[in-house]
Formats: sequence, C-alpha cells, structure tokens
Amino acid sequence: MLIFELNLRFRKIDHSYSGPTVGPTPITSPRPASAAGAFTFHSKVHGSAVKFLNNYRTAAREDPLNNDKNAVVFTSRPLETEELFEIHIDKRIKGSDKPGSVEIGVTTVNPQELSSVPATMTDCKVGQTWMYSGAEMLLNSLKVANMPKDIYELQSTGKLSKLGVKRDAQGRLDIFVNGEYIGTINDRFPTTIYGVVDIYMQTVQVSITSPKVEAPIEKEEEPSGQTQEAAKSTSPTSPPPPPITFRKTCGKNVEMSSDQKTATRRNYMTDCDNGIVLSSRPLQSGEMFEIRVDKTISKWDHEGLKIGLVDLHSGFEIPRTLPGQIAEVTWSWVGDEVFHDRRVEKKLNMNLNRVKNGDRVGVMRASDNTVHFFYNGQDFGAAADRIPEKVFAIVDVHGCTFEVSLNMPDTEMETKQTAPGPNPNSEVNTALMKMKQTVELLKIKNEASIKKVKQMAQENLLELYRSHQDPLLRKAMGEKFTEMQGATHIVDYIKFLRECGLEVDYIQECYSTLRKICVWYSDDSLKFARALGETDLLAIMVSELQKYKNKSYETDEKLLDVVKTNLILLHNCAKVTENRGVIRRLQVIDAILPYRNSKIKELSTHALMALSYMVAIDEHHYIQADENSIAFILQILEEAFNNKTTHMSETGYHVDEVLVGLANLAKNKGNRINVVKKQGVNTFVKIMKLGRPSEQECAAMALLEMVDDTTVQHIAATPGLHGVLATMKNSPVEAVRQASERLLLKLPSQDSFVQMMPDMPKPTAPKRRKCDYKEICNAYMKTLNLNDAFFDHEFDRCYCSVCHTDRGDDLYYTRGDPPKDYGIPAGWCRYALSLPAKAKAMNVLEAWHRAYHGTRSTAVAKILQVGELLMPGDTALGGEKISVCKGHFTEERKPEGFNIKKIFVSPSIRYAGHNAYAMPHKYKDATTEKNYVARVAFQICIRPDSYVVGDQTIGALSQIDPKFDNQEIEWATEERGSTVLYGLLVKLEEEVSA
Ligand SMILES: [Zn+2]
Repeated sequence: MLIFELNLRFRKIDHSYSGPTVGPTPITSPRPASAAGAFTFHSKVHGSAVKFLNNYRTAAREDPLNNDKNAVVFTSRPLETEELFEIHIDKRIKGSDKPGSVEIGVTTVNPQELSSVPATMTDCKVGQTWMYSGAEMLLNSLKVANMPKDIYELQSTGKLSKLGVKRDAQGRLDIFVNGEYIGTINDRFPTTIYGVVDIYMQTVQVSITSPKVEAPIEKEEEPSGQTQEAAKSTSPTSPPPPPITFRKTCGKNVEMSSDQKTATRRNYMTDCDNGIVLSSRPLQSGEMFEIRVDKTISKWDHEGLKIGLVDLHSGFEIPRTLPGQIAEVTWSWVGDEVFHDRRVEKKLNMNLNRVKNGDRVGVMRASDNTVHFFYNGQDFGAAADRIPEKVFAIVDVHGCTFEVSLNMPDTEMETKQTAPGPNPNSEVNTALMKMKQTVELLKIKNEASIKKVKQMAQENLLELYRSHQDPLLRKAMGEKFTEMQGATHIVDYIKFLRECGLEVDYIQECYSTLRKICVWYSDDSLKFARALGETDLLAIMVSELQKYKNKSYETDEKLLDVVKTNLILLHNCAKVTENRGVIRRLQVIDAILPYRNSKIKELSTHALMALSYMVAIDEHHYIQADENSIAFILQILEEAFNNKTTHMSETGYHVDEVLVGLANLAKNKGNRINVVKKQGVNTFVKIMKLGRPSEQECAAMALLEMVDDTTVQHIAATPGLHGVLATMKNSPVEAVRQASERLLLKLPSQDSFVQMMPDMPKPTAPKRRKCDYKEICNAYMKTLNLNDAFFDHEFDRCYCSVCHTDRGDDLYYTRGDPPKDYGIPAGWCRYALSLPAKAKAMNVLEAWHRAYHGTRSTAVAKILQVGELLMPGDTALGGEKISVCKGHFTEERKPEGFNIKKIFVSPSIRYAGHNAYAMPHKYKDATTEKNYVARVAFQICIRPDSYVVGDQTIGALSQIDPKFDNQEIEWATEERGSTVLYGLLVKLEEEVSA
C-alpha cells in the first residue's frame, strides 16, 4: 500500500473569475493553452448515459432523474505536466437524497483500451484511478487521503462550481475546488494520466473550463447517433490553423525529416552552430510550440539547445546561432537567461544546456502579449512583454543537442501507440480455478491428503482473501465460493477432521485453517454466512462453546482460539436474518452467555456483539454488559475509526458494525448508562463530524438509542454535539439529514438546556396542528386522481422526521411469523389502503412480512384497479400488457436462468424507493410554487416463504440501509397472490437546478 499524505500548502494562487456561473477562466492565468493543444472530453469512449455538447467540451447525463450512473467521461488525451484539468458544474438536482455528486480524478487507463466503460469510475477494475469523492481521495475505491473539503456537501448546498486537478512538475497532484488550490496529493503520479469525471447522482452537466479554447477544435470523426445534434448546434467561428511543422528554410547544418517534424544537426561532432529551425507558421495567441529533445552528445556540454520567438518582418536572415548576431527581433532562452535581441531580460532557474533526451521545451506567446517558456510542461511565467502579434517559433539545435522533434498534438497521438494491457480477467480466472480445485480436493476425505488440503486451502482461499482488501472483491469471492458449494464441503471436511481426532498437530492445523476460512469469508459475504447456517457448523460451535465454558480457555491458547473464532462466526451468522431460526433452535444465546463478561475483553466483545443481533424484546437483560466490556467496545470503535484506510479495528470490526452493535446493546438501560459514563458520546460526536456518511448516520442512530430520561442531560451537554448536528442537517445524504433531525428533536435545544435546572422536567414541544410536508403530499395525491374508495384514511401516517419523532416511533420493526425486520418509510407519507377480505381471513397483518415496492406514478391507478402487484408479461385489467422497465433485465437480455417474471420488493424503503423502481418525476406545487421530485411506492405484506432474499441489483457500492446488508435487501417472489397492498407512499423532494 502506498503511503499518501495530503499536504496542505495554502499558497495563494492568482486567479480570477469572469462570472459566478459562466465563462470561467483558467486558474493558472498565464497558461491559456496547453502543450498538446486544448483537450476535450473523449468523444469515442464514455459512459452510455452521456451526451456531449459544445464540441465535446460539455458532457451531460441523459435522463438524469432515472439514470444516475453510466456517465464517466475522460479527457481526449493524457494531461500534460502542470496542465490544469478543470470542470465547471453547470447543472445539478437539488434537494436530492442521492448520496453523491460529481467526482473528478485521474487515471492511468487509456480510455481506448477499456473493454467497457465502468458504471462509475470507482468500479474500474484496471489500472490505477484516483478519484476525489466526497471528502476523500480514493485510489481504486480505497481511501488514501482525507480531503479538507467535502465536495458532496458543497454540491448539495449549491456551493460547488468548479473542480480541478493538475499534476505538477514533481509528479504530484494539485487539487482545486471552486478555483482555489486546496492541497496536493503527495505521490509520484505516472506521466501518462488522463483526466476523468464521473457525472454522478446529483450532478447533471459539466463543462471543461481549462485550457480555455482560443479556437474551436476541429473534429475529424463524424459525430454519431446521439451526439450528432449536439455537434450541429455549435459551428466553428473561425477555421482552425493548419498543423504546425518545421519550416523548410533552416540553418545550413540542419537535415529535416520528410514530414518536417524532426530536425537533426549534421556534422554535430565538428560544428555546434548553424542548427536553426523555425515554425512553419506564426504561433496562435496562447498556442504552445513544444519540441522534444531526441539526441544529445556530451562533446558540447557547455552549450546546448536554445528556443525563442522571432519577428520575421525586417528582411530576416537565418543566424548562425541565438541570440542572433544581427539586428533581428528575437526573444530567446539561452542557458538560464532570456534575451530580447542581445539584452538579458530575465533569469530562469533552469539551464537549457543541461537538457536530457526526452525532455520537452516550449515557448508561447500569451494573449497578454507576453512570452512564456516551458520545461517539461512547467511554465516559468511571463519572461518579456510587448511581443508583436505575428511571431514565429525559433529553435537552435545547438551544441550538445543535435536532434529535436516537434511535440504537437497530432504527432503525440501517433507516437503514443501502446500495446494493449494484460487481460484483467485472466488473474481472476486463475484464482477461481484454484478455488475450484481446492473444493474438489475437499470432497476426498482421506487422511493421507489432509496436509495437502491444508496447504491448498491456505494458499488458494486464505491467502487469496488476505491479499485483497477491497470489501466488494471479498464479497465476490465469498459468493463464488458459495456457488461452488464451498460451505457444505468445508463443513463436511471439518466434521471429517473431528472424526480423525484433533489431538494430532497437522490435523489440528488443517482444522484451524478451515475454520479461519469460514470466519473470514462469512465476514464479507452474507451469502456464505447464510450457507453456513444451513450446515452443521453452528451445532458444532455451540457444543464447543458449552464444552469449554468452565474450562481454562482463558489460559489455554488453543482453546481460546476455538472460543474466539466460534464467537466471531456466530456473530457473522447472526447478521443473516434467515439464520435466526436455527440460532433459536440450537439455543445459541445460552451457549454464548457465559462468555459475555469474560475477563478477556476481546471475547466479551465478540459475545456481546453476537448476542446483540439475537436477543428478543424480553431478553434485553442478556445483553447487559459490565462497564469494562463497554469501555473495551468503545475502544474498538475508536481504533476502527482511527484506521483511515480500512475503517476497521485490528480484530476486524468495521466502524459501522460496531455502531450498529452499540445501538443494539443500547436496548439495555444499564448499557446506555455505561456508554455515556465511558465517554462514548464524545466518540459518536467525532464520527458524526469526520466520518463517512454511513458512519455519520450510524453514529447518530446509536446516539439516539442512548437517549433516555437518565442520559438525556449528559448527552445534550456533550461539547460539539449541537454544532455537528446542525452541520449534518445540511448533508447531501438524506439519511444523514434525517438521522440528525431525529436526534435534534429528541434533545432539548441548546439554549433551553443552558437555562434548564437539573431537576426541571424536559420541555415538551407544543403539539403541532398540522404538518406542512403532509399538506404538500396531500396536494400531490390529488393530482394522481385516485378514487377515494381505495383508501382507509384512518391509518394515514406522515413519516417526516418531525411527525415520526412526535410519535416516538422506532426506525425498524419486526413483523410476521417467523419474524422479519423492516424499516419504517422515513421521509415518506402514507395513504392507507382499504384491506381486502383476504387480509383478515389469512391474518396477513400479523403473520406476513412487511416490505415496499417502488413504482411509477402512472402505474398506481392500474395496480389499485387490479388489486395486486403485477408481474412482467401479465395482461392487466383493460388489456394492457405489463412490460419490463427500461434498464431492467428482459427476456432477450438477462443472465442465464434468470426468471424475469417476478415481483421485487424490499424491507427497506431506501432500496424500493430508488430511481430504478420508484421512478421520479417532476411536480410543481401550486401553493408553494416550488418544484419537487415526486416518487411513489406501495407498502405491502408478503407471505413468508414465498420469496427469495437476494443481493441489490442497482449497482450500489456502499451500504444502502444500515439495518439490511446489500446482499439481502431485494426480495423476489414468483408467487401470485403472495402480496397484499396496504399503503400508498408518497415522497416529495424540493428540486432546483443551478
Ligand atoms: Zn410530517
């Protein structure tokens, strides 16, 4: 792992804006154009949802309300050293709960060599990609640095206008936000990097601001399809200049290549002069003329290459060398000095006599009539002023330099042809093959092969996992292993080893390795954890825990290891709700309880965390932890949070995971008091301040659980709490905003707290008459023109933060037999539906599970008329055929064996309410005259056992809902009649485009 640090050099950069929204100027003002000519967005390789405008300098996401991904764009060529790549954010969606906005970065991936453009750039599996995302710099989706500005936050509050990146001459990456330099990522960035932008979530359209184009770039290829219209709308205002070459007229020692792009000084061993070459035409204002040094010799090491500008008006004769012996009008860089004619104008801190092969040297007449010199892209600033308008570039292929080539855009592209990279899939395929081989070997239960099994499991499973830190990759490995029946085979082998007798060392070693694999793979893959729940492993672990509880496990290292892994494994398995039945049956709680307050604090933590997922409402006394155990868990939380790379503790707990565990433990009053007593609130505040959005949310939720009559005053008095909650209220992430609102509503306000005497009762807010949000939702409902007979308004309910907190409701509830969790529809408003007779007849409200189904507003009336959710392919009432939504799998385009005739629901409204399902549309409220993004969803009951629990399919990278793992957030049923509609949900978000 590379070590990065963010170096906060707050140097003042001279920059100016021509206006707040349009016509931004480049930040580095003395550098209007780049070495290789202005770049555009890459016209051929880009995300599928992108359209271009303005000659490929503006990129927009098509259908931004329905598609928030597939809008990655690249620069048309690699970035030069010191060349700023800056974009302006033209349009965004305001008030959106989409957790993200635009991301900018650089990548070593040559877009031309990508087999497909990833949906989001953090998905890119090849090369190295650095993305500025939220308040972090990610390298291939792993955080490598904290950034001082959170661009998501800026974007959501409308305070983000520009983002820029620039590789400096030392190979580091400078970062610019809103035209201001904010810091540098100190690493050696490769010399060939492309700029990349992900027009993501809240962001709709961006434009390149730098380098500013002086003349439009002519496109060689015919624009195709969707971009045609965009290309037509902008026509060039003046013809582009012809490509630049060397002029045929040159010094008498010069030998010119046939394409006039390379100049060699003949007899370089004997003559150091007469190597002058000129540009074929005058330079455009702001056009950099750049050459690359191809060949040098040490013979003339006291003098070398020279470059400059020349006015060819007054009867020009090619000089022997620069700065010219006759009265020519030249500005030239010689050694470390800049001459105007023969007078020294300026000293530069680079000596041209020391150039090496491959170095680039450039000259430019800027639009402010100054001359700039460049060395490997580095600009030395204005070296002289009052340069005439029509000047040619002049190069003296002098002394130790005897061959140079033009380094202009068209030549650049030809020479940069590189061989295609290695096939990114080959490595994966090899790993999977080895995994498969190991599974095959596990099937053969033979004492002679135990050592071999241990070795292969170690190399092909354990090391494979250990060498990949990316949780998504680890999850994928767990899934593949599960598909190969890895859980069954590994547990069968464990049973075989137990039969052989664990007293023998090599058998014990194999046993320990296989158990480790179970622990690790179940940590990142719920599928694997679920599969383990179907084996005998849980029963084995329970018997071991019972056997060792009175033994000296605290001093026996081997026993300790067994107990430890068992507790962790049970914790991993307890997270899967499907496993809870077997956990009950095996009385796992009883087996864990003896370890709950173990002297070994790591054990007590594992035990408590596992228990926190298992206990029922009347079992909260089981999770009562002693003071020291709580203190130790808080220490783990700190440790995990302080690990900036993994956000994970030594013992393998993620920050989110510990926070959810603490929230679970807070169901016990003694635990709440101990968390407050052990300064846990300070840690929560710190995480709310500096954590990732999911961590902020979990910290606020955990803290909310801590609040009761005993703790409220202590919590409210925590330094910084009110401030951080006020900041979170403006978070771009809806869940974070809601979490802070709920917490604020539960705490006395800061002012009233200060004046409150300790014995005074908590002030209660005056009862509200009506909710403004519900009023607007009511008005929207009217526009749907639904017959009132469908509704039973007695059970209407607003789930905005205020109404929700007023009622004192929880965020998650459990319903059905067997019980299953669901989240309340926070932020939505429910219009209760009249229940069909079947609901009462079949005891649906008690026995069935609760879930959500997002849909489009135009489908609501049809669904109500039919009376239940429809499957693709169904013919609805009135003859309309139900088709598959755009972007979803179809009969023609679907994974093998995939049945598209399914109804998808989710126990989380965050998932069901996603754009892919609850298709947003615009709505203008007549009273407030505000524009909203409106969505609808159904609240349903679903028959237990009628559906399959599965992974999210919307390409989410981060956890969607803290209560439900992404791997079990989508439920699919093929059973007709297995759902009963009981509420229509509406959500409105204010929309403003910048
Ligand atoms: Zn409300």
